[in-house]
Formats: sequence, C-alpha cells, structure tokens
Amino acid sequence: MSTNSSPKTWTPREAEDYYGFHRWGAGHFTVDGNGCLCVHPMGDQRRIRILDIIKEAAQMGIRPPLTIRLQDMLRQRVTQLNEAFREAIRDEGYDGRYRGVFPTKVNQLREVVEEILDAGEKYDFGLEAGSKPELLIALALLENKNALLICNGYKDDEYIRLALMGRRLGKQTIIVIEQLSEVDAIIRLSKETGIEPHIGLRLKLTTAGEGKWAESTGENAKFGLTPCEIIHATRKLMRARMSESLRLVHFHIGSQVPNISTIKKAVSEAARYYCELVRLGFPMGMLDVGGGLGVDYDGSRSNYESSMNYSMEAYARDIIANVKSICEQSHVRVPDIVSESGRALVAPHSILVFEVVDRINRDLDAPILPPRGKRPQLVRELEDIYKNPSRLDALERYHDARQKKEEANTLFNLGYLSLEERAEADRLFWRICRDIREKLPAHGEIPDELGDLDKLLAEQYVCNFSVFQSLLDHWALDQLFPIAPIHRLDEKPAIPTTLADITCDSDGKVSAFIDLEDIKTTLNLHPLLPNQRYYVGAFLVGAYQDIMGDLHNLFGRVGEAHVFLEDDEEDGFYIEETINGSTTDKILGMIQYTAEDLCRMLKRQIDRATRNDEVRPREGVAMLEMYEASIHSKTYLVTQTTKEKTKTKIKPAQT
Ligand SMILES: *Cc1c(COP(=O)(O)O)cnc(C)c1O
Repeated sequence: MSTNSSPKTWTPREAEDYYGFHRWGAGHFTVDGNGCLCVHPMGDQRRIRILDIIKEAAQMGIRPPLTIRLQDMLRQRVTQLNEAFREAIRDEGYDGRYRGVFPTKVNQLREVVEEILDAGEKYDFGLEAGSKPELLIALALLENKNALLICNGYKDDEYIRLALMGRRLGKQTIIVIEQLSEVDAIIRLSKETGIEPHIGLRLKLTTAGEGKWAESTGENAKFGLTPCEIIHATRKLMRARMSESLRLVHFHIGSQVPNISTIKKAVSEAARYYCELVRLGFPMGMLDVGGGLGVDYDGSRSNYESSMNYSMEAYARDIIANVKSICEQSHVRVPDIVSESGRALVAPHSILVFEVVDRINRDLDAPILPPRGKRPQLVRELEDIYKNPSRLDALERYHDARQKKEEANTLFNLGYLSLEERAEADRLFWRICRDIREKLPAHGEIPDELGDLDKLLAEQYVCNFSVFQSLLDHWALDQLFPIAPIHRLDEKPAIPTTLADITCDSDGKVSAFIDLEDIKTTLNLHPLLPNQRYYVGAFLVGAYQDIMGDLHNLFGRVGEAHVFLEDDEEDGFYIEETINGSTTDKILGMIQYTAEDLCRMLKRQIDRATRNDEVRPREGVAMLEMYEASIHSKTYLVTQTTKEKTKTKIKPAQT
C-alpha cells in the first residue's frame, strides 16, 4: 500500500484487491491510471475501457442496463478448451480425439452460438440440444459434417424425426436415450424412415455431483438409465438389429462442480460402463462427459460452491488420464472424448452494466428539533451518548444507544413522544452507530455485534435493472457474481451498500457478495455525486443469466452491445452490433395486450372526459400522445442527470 496516498485516493492495486479483479478475472481485468476498469478480451496487453463502450453504445441509442458481450473472449474460451484437451491428449499419448459440443441451453443467443461455431470450426466443435427448439437451431446452424450434434432432453416423435433428418443430411447427429421409453420410439421411427440413427445412452451414475446441483444427479436423478435399464435398452437394440447404432455413453453430473475429485470419480464410473458396452459387442467409440466444468466466481480457487479447485487444463488432463487408465485395465481401445461445457465457455464473455439511480435514505443528517428548544429526557440522553464517545467503551455505547432507541419507539407508540421527537431520537441513534463504526480499529478483534454494524449501516443503492431478468441465479440459488463499479476506482469506496433493483419485489436485491473467505453482506461503493452517473458492473454473467430471466414487473430484456477488439480504432474496439432492450408494446404482447387495444381503451375514456368538459380537447390529445409514446418506449427507467434535465427542459403541457 502506498504510504503517501490520502485517505480519499486509492491506488489501482487497492481497487483490484478489494474487488478481486485479478482473482476472478483470470487476467482479463485491470484498473487504469484514471480509475477506470479495463477489460483485456484476449488476456494480453490490448485493453478496452468499459466506460468507453458505454459511451459509444449510448451514441447508438443503447443505454444501461446493458449487456456487453466481448466476442473475442468467447472465441478465446473455445480455443482454450479445445487446446486444453489437445494438450492433455498429446501429453498422455491418448489414442483418441476430443470432440466438444456447446450445450445451447446455456446461452442460445444467435450471436453467441455463431461465434462459438466460428471459433470452433477448426476443432470440429459441435452443438448440443436439449429441446426441440434448440434442435431446430442446431440443425440449421451446424453445417460442419465432422462436428457432433448431440440430442439430449425429453423427446417426442417429432424431435426424433428431426434428429434422423439430420443424419440424412450427413450430420453427425447422436440421439441420446435418457428414458427407456425412447428406445422403442427410435426403433419404430428408424424403421419407418429407413434412416439408421447413431445412439447414445445416458447413464444414471452413483457418483453424485456436488455443489448447488448435487440433487439433480445420483440415483434419484431425473435423467439417465440404471444398469438394468441399460441392459434392457441394449437388448431391444439387438433384437431390432440395430446394434451398430450404439456409439456413445453420456453422463452429466450437474453444473458448477467445485471439486475435481467428483469429476474424476464420475469419469471413472462412466468409463467402466463404456468398457462393458464394448465387451457386449457394440461399436461405441465415444464417451461424453457432459458439463460441470466450473467457473471461479469468487476467485478463491477453493471447493466452495462459487468456486472450483481446479483449472480447465487440469480438468482435461484428469478426464483423459482416468479414461485411459480404466480402458487399459479392461483392454479396451480408448474412446473419443466428448464434453458439453457450457458455463465455462460463455460465463466470462458478458458483463451487465447498470446505473445506480438513487439511494434509500435511513436518516437525513440535519437536526430536526430546534437547537434551543425543549427536548425530552430521552433525546438528551442520546445526545449525551453521541457527544461523549470516550466515557463508555464502544460496545457499551452501542448497547446504550440501542436501548434508548427501543425506548423511543415504545414512548412514541404510547403517545408520549411526538413524531419530531421520535425522528430526532432516530437520527441521533444512527449518528452514534456511524461514529462507533468510524472509530473502530482497522485491525484486531472486534466484537461480533459491532462487526455487524456495516450491515446495519449499509445504504441501499437503487439500481436500474431487474434481478429477475438479469441475475436470476442470484435470486433463485444464491449464486454469487463479482460486482464492482467500473469507474472512480482511484477513489476509496467508503460506503457499505447493498443493491436494490427496480422491481416492486423486496426480493429484488443483491445483499451477498463474493469475498476471499465466506461471503460479504455489503459491498463498498462510492458516494453518489450530483450530475454524475454512477455505473456498476456484474461480471461472469454470460451463462444462463441471459436466457433464464423472466418478465417480473414486465421489464424484459436489456440492451446489448457486441464488442470486438480493433487495433485501428481510437479506443481499440468497435461495436459490431447492438440489440435494443425490450419495448413495452412487445412485452405487453406476450401477455395478450396489444398496443392498439390499450390505446383505444384509453382514448374512449379521454373522449368521454372531453365530452363532459372535464378535460380540454388539446389536453386530451396530449394525454393520448404521451400514452402512445410510452407504450412504444423501453421498459427500464430513463434517467437524466440534473444537468441533462435543464438542457432539455420539458415544456409544460399546454392547456
Ligand atoms: C446443462 C447441461 C450442460 C451444461 O452444463 P455446464 O455445467 O453449464 O457446462 C451439459 N450437458 C447437459 C446434458 C446439460 O443438461
């Protein structure tokens, strides 16, 4: 820590430490000399100031809440995953190939899928579909005949027909049987169409996953075949003279597996199944290890559920080495390895940026009772606690203040304290708490109760976004994401905060943050300044969050900017594409309201009011115009700084 920094200034180093950029950012985030957060999409020297992206997107009409996609980062992850397996295969002298696929459910956005396929072309990287709509996407987009198209999920006849059609077009479609009942349908439709399918079997492993998704695996899993069912399935295939079709075994032990030993166990178990199916005479050739490769959201490199205790390279090596060793024991030729890593491929590439638009006040610091007026005993006692900090130790002072505050509530409820007096007591209580917190030693033992002061004193910052749309897993699964301001990082963030979103739901908030150990309940941010926008980013949100968001409060999708590095550009980047956030009429349409109907209904009411002389005709026209304009505008808050407001003074409605 530099010694000459005033308490207000902060070094990039301190900012990086506090927000953990170098821990979870894997070399992709640094703070520049102006306190701005920069992203290094390729992990090299080339960097882009995130604030510059926001400015440029704003010129293109897209304002936060904004998803920034770093397409280079997506490509880099595809390369990294494929190279990790190639290297492991080389190092282990493994006599098989790696044939990865991207599970579309993790992010089906067209630009994401297309970028992954483009970057993966030279590795014959394929796609995985888990539903009919996803299969329709994959059939159209995946043209590389050497790449796999893995068909998972529940299947009806139509799904199976589509997969068979893929085979006719020369695609490497593999239908993975997840339920025994699917076997008969596949046999029937194959005979009917005369198309020979390639089939995989999904295993129900005894090795259960770990972390948040542990429940979805193991013997009570929703998907997969038990040993008995596998025997039944294989016998059905043999009876139908379709033994040649069986090419793959598959498992998936859930997402975000924090502990590498879980993966090793599952891989070994699956490899045993593979060897047995070879022994039974099926051609086989592929072992699919599913997803589960983690993302180190908190940067702790631990087996904590937001983290992972292994690297992508170690993951690849362990899979290759374990499969090889099991196959050697069973004297079986090693299979090609398929994996379906979604989270690890796409989580890092996207950043959600939102604006803090307000703070929820607990107390305003100006005295409420006149300085010389008469004040009740209780208020005088609180004043005394405030003004004489050294008479009691911190904990006693805190206990006394709390007790007085409770008394104030009681007296107010009984009618012995006026609203003004109660307000003054409240104000003094919070001043005392802040004073105690400021005087706490920076190091050393702090009583638990005082340690919780940060949480008690934390301000709620109101942010223009919806947790239900953009950080669903935080709400649903308590998943943690790195969150940090993207500018002013040369200023010490002195205000402990929690974040509230703009939905009308008290659950719409973020009050758990990553920390090196355990979880932080508050995040230090900067004071809001008049006339200055304040932007905060949520990072590693490219997996699942984009697509699982819901319409709570009808906010809908946020705007997007798709960014590429470009050396020739002034700021080192260009925005290849922008996507507008949801407009209100579109969202309303999804729940059966059309803009025309709503406008017509309102117009009828305005007409009636005009006829009855309650509203003047011109005013009525203005009202309808305003209503119509709102219906076609975006759903999130439109914010203006005071400066901008005075520039575009809104004309008072003419009456
Ligand atoms: C969800 C899913 C995946 C992706 O898992 P990640 O942990 O995101 O890599 C892969 N395969 C199947 C079958 C899935 O259901």
